[in-house]
Amino acid sequence: MFYHPSESLKRSELENLQVERLRAVVENARKSPFYGERLKDFDIRELQTASDITKLPFTTKDDLRSQYPYGLLTRSLDDFVRLHASSGTTGTPTAVFYTQKDIDQWADLMARSMYAVGVRRSDVLQNMSGYGLFTGGLGIHYGSERLGCLTVPAGAGNTRRQIKLIRDFSVTVLHIIPSFALYFAQKVVEEGFDPAEMPWKVALIGAEPHTEETRRRIEELMHIKAYNSYGLSEMNGPGVAFECTEQTGMHVWEDAYIAEIIDPATGEHVAEGEVGELVMTTLTREGMPIIRYRTRDLTRFIPGQCACGRTHRRIDRITGRADDMLIIKGVNIYPMQIEQVLMAMPEVGQNYVIELIREGFMDQIRVKVEVKEEYFVEDMRVLRNLQKSIAARLCNEILVTPRVELVMHDAIPKAAGKAVRVVDLRDQEKDS
Ligand code: ADP
Ligand code: ZN
Repeated sequence: MFYHPSESLKRSELENLQVERLRAVVENARKSPFYGERLKDFDIRELQTASDITKLPFTTKDDLRSQYPYGLLTRSLDDFVRLHASSGTTGTPTAVFYTQKDIDQWADLMARSMYAVGVRRSDVLQNMSGYGLFTGGLGIHYGSERLGCLTVPAGAGNTRRQIKLIRDFSVTVLHIIPSFALYFAQKVVEEGFDPAEMPWKVALIGAEPHTEETRRRIEELMHIKAYNSYGLSEMNGPGVAFECTEQTGMHVWEDAYIAEIIDPATGEHVAEGEVGELVMTTLTREGMPIIRYRTRDLTRFIPGQCACGRTHRRIDRITGRADDMLIIKGVNIYPMQIEQVLMAMPEVGQNYVIELIREGFMDQIRVKVEVKEEYFVEDMRVLRNLQKSIAARLCNEILVTPRVELVMHDAIPKAAGKAVRVVDLRDQEKDS
């Protein structure tokens, strides 16, 4: 029923496995220059239960940067077969190294993730994310092959070719970045195809924050089932947490990772079900173990058991990165709050961008919104009303009234990889 027996272990068994593995992780990590120094006085006997992980120090992105490139490796470079890097969304990328065993284990986690949403060896999977250093390429690819799927390494972009491959090879599963999926769905129609007639059944969407409204929109536009996929290169890449067919949160594969959620200000665990920063520890990676990594991603544990029977805890969709927060007129705003409002409005097209501008001495945001072709009519009053209605709904959600600019569909450039949702124009223009 499940890909791996550990998926339904009793909680007590799972936690025993975790603490056993955690002790081994600390022993192994100490072979690296970084943890050798940081954990030299740590007494392994302090780890009696999985929750004793709080006795270990955090590792931050700055630690990884300061140790670039080899400071976290536990063995000689001869033992490594692959390297990846983060996309660098928030600054200097970090490099991650894998031994052959690490690659195998990652492929297993990825295969398990796909299996959980119904992908089987009879499926044909088209990987539409960029290959290269980005983990969404080879990470998904190896997982798909491990599961036995015929795998089409299409890579990013080139919509027409993507459609041709999908039709020629009867592709049933897509791996696609959500912002690109919205764009792609529209292109498929423009190219004269009916999405309902396409062979696809399942889309694995992830790599960037997106809302439930966006998922529903992708599902409706494409006539597909879309499942949320979470991962980060520091923890291998995709395959860290994945939805099951219930679509009620993402199971963190707890035999391979320990997940914690902390208050970013105090470093203490938040109360059950509250939102905080996700902290992750690798339990099975031999070459480059990472302990209590502060991901900067904000989410919460979903209380209770999943109907699918898996015992691994679920996290809610990532509401954003701590770094994404904007402060406008003293109010904290996350881009996903804006996306949630926009994607629920039928007049709104498939893309938007938030521009950070200066008005007088105050920061303000201007939300550029693509409007669907059929609503982009010549009657100015209609558009002005739409603009007002978007501004009012946004104000309702974010508590400040943003500037809203309506643009034609396709007017906002589409990034090939992760969408850039916020553009800082404060130094470039003096707004009236
Ligand atoms: P970078 O941090 O430079 O973007 P990665 O390519 O390693 O590098 O991407 C990992 C990050 O992508 C995560 O920390 C998270 O912020 C984001 N991410 C990945 N999957 C999801 C998802 N399903 N939902 C929201 N955010 C995601
Ligand atoms: Zn489940």
